[in-house]
Amino acid sequence: MPLTPDQEAEIAEARATTRPTLRAISDGMEAHLYVAHPVLDHGLIRVVDYMGDDAAICQAARVSYGRGTKAVSDDAGLIRYLMRHWHSTPFEMCEVKFHVKLPVFVARQWIRHRTANVNEYSARYSILDREFYIPAPDQLAAQSTVNNQGRGELLEGAEAQRVLDILREDAMRAYDHYEDMLSTEGQKGLARELARMNLPANIYTQWYWKCDLHNLFHFLRLRADHHAQYEIRVYAQTMCAIVKDWVPQAYAAFEDYRLGGVNLSGKAAEALKRRLAGEAVTFETSGMSRGEWREFCEVWG
Ligand SMILES: Cc1cc2nc3c(=O)[nH]c(=O)nc-3n(C[C@H](O)[C@H](O)[C@H](O)COP(=O)(O)OP(=O)(O)OC[C@H]3O[C@@H](n4cnc5c(N)ncnc54)[C@H](O)[C@@H]3O)c2cc1C
Repeated sequence: MPLTPDQEAEIAEARATTRPTLRAISDGMEAHLYVAHPVLDHGLIRVVDYMGDDAAICQAARVSYGRGTKAVSDDAGLIRYLMRHWHSTPFEMCEVKFHVKLPVFVARQWIRHRTANVNEYSARYSILDREFYIPAPDQLAAQSTVNNQGRGELLEGAEAQRVLDILREDAMRAYDHYEDMLSTEGQKGLARELARMNLPANIYTQWYWKCDLHNLFHFLRLRADHHAQYEIRVYAQTMCAIVKDWVPQAYAAFEDYRLGGVNLSGKAAEALKRRLAGEAVTFETSGMSRGEWREFCEVWG
């Protein structure tokens, strides 16, 4: 379980404490505030604070003095226009702060997104919990034969069991040694900042991660995509559901133009025009590389 009863009580207390505000709020986001969404076997993601809503994006784009100066349908059209034309700064007026509990190997991918503000749990200051990510059987797969950065068929039977046993036993042994080295019973006890170094990358860490909506959309486009590793993708998908409730109009535009949209190179656009004019364009006459041609055919047939 990602939360202890004490932590659940803290969240319930935070949600029970309300006060009036003059700030813009999003009803959809208020329902998520502080609530922990479980991810993977011990992970979680929850919103601890946010700023802005769909109207705040329009307000910034128009640099207006008040909220609701235009009809909702006008706002939706403006947001779609901004998204379509990469007019990104109005989206930066919305911000969200997440509390995330995630395996260290997922954190290594996540931290590559440099446009967020991060504060991580200190394993120099505190002792890490005995919590390790062990893939569910439906994620325990062999190396993909077609994608060097991916997984293929599921492991089965004795092989699957042996792999799970190795993952569990190695994690437990490493943690036993971690505790052993930290212990001050009959010895000095190794410093926490050193004892942690033999812990495996599937141990869980936690951080606060704050990002504006424009850069969050960039993160989600890359990490909710099927090319991203499953273990980070499930966090991104949970975040997508939260963002959809927070800023429904902005999310709808993002879903349409970024997640559902297709980028065309100059050569691809030319090949498409020639096809529409009735020409049978082939790989040889397209001027594209094999990879480009394969991706072009995947979208356009
Ligand atoms: C499927 C997948 C596979 C990947 N595989 C690998 C891999 O094998 N090896 C690897 O090392 N990484 C890999 N990555 C990570 C990837 O290369 C990026 O580092 C990561 O996705 C963050 O993207 P970003 O830099 O655009 O994001 P952010 O850091 O959030 O930056 C957002 C944007 O801000 C701008 N920006 C931010 N900082 C700077 C800066 N210092 N200078 C200039 N512009 C800046 C850029 O325009 C950038 O696109 C992979 C990512 C994905 C999604």
